[in-house]
Amino acid sequence: MNIVLMGVPGAGKGTQATFLVDQYNMSHISTGDLLREAVDNDTNYGKQANEFMTSGQLVPDSLIINILREKLENTDISNGVVLDGFPRTLDQAKSLDSMMSEIGSQIDKAILINAETSVIIQRICSRKMCKNCGFIGSVYGLTEQEAANYVCPECGGEMFTREDDNEKTVYNRVEVYLEKTTPVISYYESQNKLVEVDGGHGCPQDIFEEIKKLLD
Ligand code: AMP
Repeated sequence: MNIVLMGVPGAGKGTQATFLVDQYNMSHISTGDLLREAVDNDTNYGKQANEFMTSGQLVPDSLIINILREKLENTDISNGVVLDGFPRTLDQAKSLDSMMSEIGSQIDKAILINAETSVIIQRICSRKMCKNCGFIGSVYGLTEQEAANYVCPECGGEMFTREDDNEKTVYNRVEVYLEKTTPVISYYESQNKLVEVDGGHGCPQDIFEEIKKLLD
C-alpha cells in the first residue's frame, strides 16, 4: 500500500510515518528530511531551498517535484511507501499521480492527521529532533536543566531544534498549509482515498492504533 500522510505542521506526520514503517515494513520518504539533508550538505538543491524553509514558505513545486522524482526512482517501494510532507500543492499531487502511474503503481490512501492550532504551536515550540537517527521528541514539561540534558531516547544521539520550529515561523507555515495544501485534501477526497484521524489528543501510539483501524 502506498500512503500519503497529510496534516498541519506539528500534527505528527513524522512520528506516525515511523510507526507505519515499523509496522508494515514500508519505505519512508520525507521531503522535509530530504531538504534538510540537502541544506546541511550545501548541495545545489539545498542552496535553492534554504530561504524558503527558514521563512516557513513552501519550496517551489519544480524543485521539490524533481527531488521527489529522484528519490522515488532510487527507493524500493515493493512493500509500499509512506510519503510524509508530499504532496503539499495540487500540482504536486497531480505530478505524484503521474510518477506513480509511470512505475505501474498508485497512491492508495491519504491519511489526514487533524490537530488544533493551539496544540501544534505548543508541540512545535518544544519539538527536538535527533541528529543521528531522526527521532522526534519533545522537551515539553521538562525543567530548563532537563531540557538542556535531553538526549535521544532511541539512540542517545544529540537532539536539535529545527531552524523553522519557532512561534514566528509556525503561523506562517499554518497559513501556507491552509492556502496551498487544503485543496490537496479535496483532491484525495474526490478520489475516495481520504481517511482522517484526530492527531490532537491522546498519545502517539493511540493515534497509530486509530490509523491501523482505518487501513485494515
Ligand atoms: P516538514 O519537515 O515536512 O515540515 O518540511 C519542512 C519545510 O520543508 C517546509 O516548511 C517547506 O519549506 C519544505 N518542504 C517540505 N516538503 C515540501 C513540499 N512537498 N513542498 C514544498 N516545500 C516543502
